[in-house]
Amino acid sequence: MATVLIRAPSIDPKYACFKLSIRESRIHRRGVYAEEHIPARRKVIEYTGERISRRETQRRGDGDITYLFTLDDYWTLDGAFGGSGAEIINHSCQPNLRSCVIRGHILYISKRAIPRGEELTVDYCFAKEVESVPCRCGSRNCRGTINLK
Ligand SMILES: [Zn+2]
Repeated sequence: MATVLIRAPSIDPKYACFKLSIRESRIHRRGVYAEEHIPARRKVIEYTGERISRRETQRRGDGDITYLFTLDDYWTLDGAFGGSGAEIINHSCQPNLRSCVIRGHILYISKRAIPRGEELTVDYCFAKEVESVPCRCGSRNCRGTINLK
């Protein structure tokens, strides 16, 4: 019987441009925190993971906790395998990071200056057609769900 070992999540410094750490989060389980000041509009970390097809994405998407990031119409990255640590970044409706896809790479860019000690967040932008996931980000303009309205 095959056993798949998933290492404890950690930040891979190869993909992080600033000092980051993983700690307990107020939003959800664990989160990623800035360990130094991050200026606005800078690449903070690249989201990495195993590249999987549409069919495999549907299969893995059934799990309890998933770290899937849609790259395009066909490919998805599964951060549970080979993740840089960016897969631990929580959702917020008022995030301090935005994601952008450049030549097949998913980059998390700072939307504004982020002081040391602040939790990093990104808007997951779940489609409104998929199962609704309640949001507890606590931001003033929280949509109530991680899905877009
Ligand atoms: Zn929210």
